[in-house]
Amino acid sequence: MKTIYFDNNATSRVAPEVLEVMLPLFSELYGNPSSMHSFGGQIAQMIKKARQQVADLLGCDSSEIIFTSGGTESDNAAIKGVIEANPQKRKIVTTRVEHPAVLSTCRELETLGFTIVELGVDRQGNLDLDELKERVDANTAVVSIMYANNETGVIFPMEKIAEIVSGSGAVLHTDAVQAVGKIPLNLSKSKIDLLSLSGHKLHGPKGIGVLYIKKGTRISPFIVGGHQESGKRAGTENTAAIVGIGKACELAAKFLDDENTRVKKLRDKLEEEILKTCPDSKLNGDKKNRLPNTTNISFEFVEGEAILLMLDKFGICASSGSACTSGSLEPSHVMRAMGVPFTAAHGSIRFSLSRYNTEEEVDFLIEKLPPIINRLRQLSPFVNKK
Ligand code: PLP
Repeated sequence: MKTIYFDNNATSRVAPEVLEVMLPLFSELYGNPSSMHSFGGQIAQMIKKARQQVADLLGCDSSEIIFTSGGTESDNAAIKGVIEANPQKRKIVTTRVEHPAVLSTCRELETLGFTIVELGVDRQGNLDLDELKERVDANTAVVSIMYANNETGVIFPMEKIAEIVSGSGAVLHTDAVQAVGKIPLNLSKSKIDLLSLSGHKLHGPKGIGVLYIKKGTRISPFIVGGHQESGKRAGTENTAAIVGIGKACELAAKFLDDENTRVKKLRDKLEEEILKTCPDSKLNGDKKNRLPNTTNISFEFVEGEAILLMLDKFGICASSGSACTSGSLEPSHVMRAMGVPFTAAHGSIRFSLSRYNTEEEVDFLIEKLPPIINRLRQLSPFVNKK
């Protein structure tokens, strides 16, 4: 059975071009980039190129790019690194809809005596910037606000947020794991200080990420040891993955237009057809202010997990809540923060597309989903009681 993959916010297929550049680093190109000999030196050159490829996508200087093991490490390192470098400040401002990589880091710091402010969102998943203004003060070490939400795709106005935060003296970190490669970013003119991204969300390998650190930002090293990554993140480099993420970033720049035209059109077709053909279905999240590849739809009175299992029988992959929180039957913290009623939050499904999806795949989903929802509704105790 063919896999029809609409779960690209969970992880994405490694681009064939990325795999191709990575493979030699597992065989003949096994040198250590720190070695004095030219056998290792050629790998150092490849890493230099990858750093530049990432910097080109972000519009920053290559010296501002630190390779990490992924989005989770970048998020942890950003928040803890700033806290450590600014010990006099005791407050962190974030939002209720962050990925657990940020929320758990903040909650851990709360147990150590830091004050954590979690900003709420409205029914559309948007932030109240006035609340942000009120809550950021001179005691705030770091503000960590995601660029785009992994579950709904809702994009936060990062440049407006950066304007507000820059006046306060706090460091601004953004988890841009879901935004990079999907929408254009340009850090050269931005007041964002720290930005996380992850290889496997943009058709690169898993286990590799980046923390962008704007020149002059006060942040402590997060792994100490050797001199690698400007002394901020020690350890012999994950050479194949670094070369892979570099290529993935180069490709992402090339496909940005496709993502915002063809992929967006596919997403819109999928969404419109589902909302039209499935009664009691509703979009979660701001319709306009969204990543071009993501839609999150609630099907009232049915369980998301049941929908996923039935889609799986046709080889269709989607997600209920974020991959990291699935496995629990609790509605996701994002849906709860948005005030989505329990009966709708429970039946929310995220479809996230990529450059590899086709119109035929969207048509297949549109054909298969309505009968699945009908069948589940017939079985639902909620509907029978209605
Ligand atoms: N931040 C966001 C918004 C994510 O969606 C994810 C992955 O789902 C992460 C962070 C974690 O990234 P990684 O899987 O590379 O650790």
